[in-house]
Amino acid sequence: MYMMTAEQYEESLRRLNLVVYMFGKRIENVVDDPIIRPSMKAVAKTYELAHRPEHEDIMTATSHITGKKVNRFTHIHQSIEDLVKKSKMGRLLGRETGCCFQRCVGMDSLNALDMTTFDIDRKYGTEYHKRFVKYLAYVQDNDLTCCGAMTDTKGDRSLPPHKQADPDMFMHVVEEKQDGVIVRGAKAHQTGAVNSHEIIVMPTITLREPDKDYAISFALPSDTEGITYIIGRQSCDTRKLESGTMDRGNLFFGGHEALVIFDNVFVPWGRVFMFKEYDFSRQLVEQFAAYHRQSYACKVGVGDVLIGAAQTAAEYNGVEKASHIKDKVVEMNHLNETLYCGAIACASEGHKEPSGTYYVNTLLANVHKQNVTRFPYEMARLAQDIAGGLLATLPSEKDFKSDTVGKWMDKYYKGRADISTEYRMRILRLIENLTLGTAATNYLTESMHGAGSPQAQRIMISRRVNMQEKQRAAKRLCGIE
Ligand code: SF4
Ligand code: FE
Repeated sequence: MYMMTAEQYEESLRRLNLVVYMFGKRIENVVDDPIIRPSMKAVAKTYELAHRPEHEDIMTATSHITGKKVNRFTHIHQSIEDLVKKSKMGRLLGRETGCCFQRCVGMDSLNALDMTTFDIDRKYGTEYHKRFVKYLAYVQDNDLTCCGAMTDTKGDRSLPPHKQADPDMFMHVVEEKQDGVIVRGAKAHQTGAVNSHEIIVMPTITLREPDKDYAISFALPSDTEGITYIIGRQSCDTRKLESGTMDRGNLFFGGHEALVIFDNVFVPWGRVFMFKEYDFSRQLVEQFAAYHRQSYACKVGVGDVLIGAAQTAAEYNGVEKASHIKDKVVEMNHLNETLYCGAIACASEGHKEPSGTYYVNTLLANVHKQNVTRFPYEMARLAQDIAGGLLATLPSEKDFKSDTVGKWMDKYYKGRADISTEYRMRILRLIENLTLGTAATNYLTESMHGAGSPQAQRIMISRRVNMQEKQRAAKRLCGIE
């Protein structure tokens, strides 16, 4: 058994030589950068909790290839129970961190590739699955974090990859060599990219024959020569550079996304899991997407934090007994638990694929993610309603601690007499962080577009519902032959 501790994970990242840019400058020390570090700490939680006896059952699994205990984030689901535990793990970590903990994308890539490589080999007699399993053993044995890279930059959305004015709008092979391929392109919005040891690339859309050079899937160490990361901005990100911590809301954790550029990068054959099998691109995209839509159980955990914050803000204002406040908190809980139902249901209704991998019910996974594109927004609205306008007009920590005006803030921003003004400010900052600040990037916009924008789920819902069965039922009852 080898599972890294949080400290070992942090140290392992220090050994990477990533090319990372932010605010126009190369970041030499990524791990200690004040803007990036909270996101690393969030991933570190996935390591820390795996060592805690009370979370062992949820956070760890038994590898089907080595029989060893592994972190669940590197595991290939072997049962319905595994799928259900995956959903529970997402909620647990969302609640612990109050943000995106980033490691799910790699887990979902591994599971999708386990199925797709198996199916490609069955059709074409290739050896992708064997290669993949060897790679998986490496990931499990070293307890690695993988960045799952699917979303291409896509250029003109009306054109397929080969018709783009710039061929690099989708990741593609520019040269085939004896020992591997050279790839070029970029992957956008890559969650947790610079906190990852490995990057797993997959195509982003269904591809046809003229696009076969774009049908490429592979994995590389994250610090491979030719890969560059540009960190995305988040609302209120520079508050992390301020000397105090109160105005951050969440003192410990955050997420990050990056644009990842592959500028003529070499991939050895041993790490290529699909090449030119364009007829499997749709399967790989759909399988990854369905798993990742399940992974949005994470937002239920973040929702738990938001509900807790809203209730606390109400108590600090002395309004928690007002019937409309109680009703709003009930509404938030109803929405959040409805999300949880979807995350559990798509897992419970999963099934075994020919590769032996357990796969979620895709209809329910898509319904779940469609709910995630909506309910967090309503929950954020309710939390802001409960919190009151001070959420958006509160002066800074520096004013609160100022020798001259601090006393006025302390006096006039007091709510209930037995609660310190500072605590009232802290809970409001947390709600601000979740609904307007750095974490809103994850709780709201990522809920909208992560794992595919809402329309992508609606397409899958329309494909997966059994309409004939519904029509038969209706017609039978009213006497239509
Ligand atoms: Fe995981 Fe959720 Fe972050 Fe996606 S948004 S990587 S599912 S924590
Ligand atoms: Fe995501």
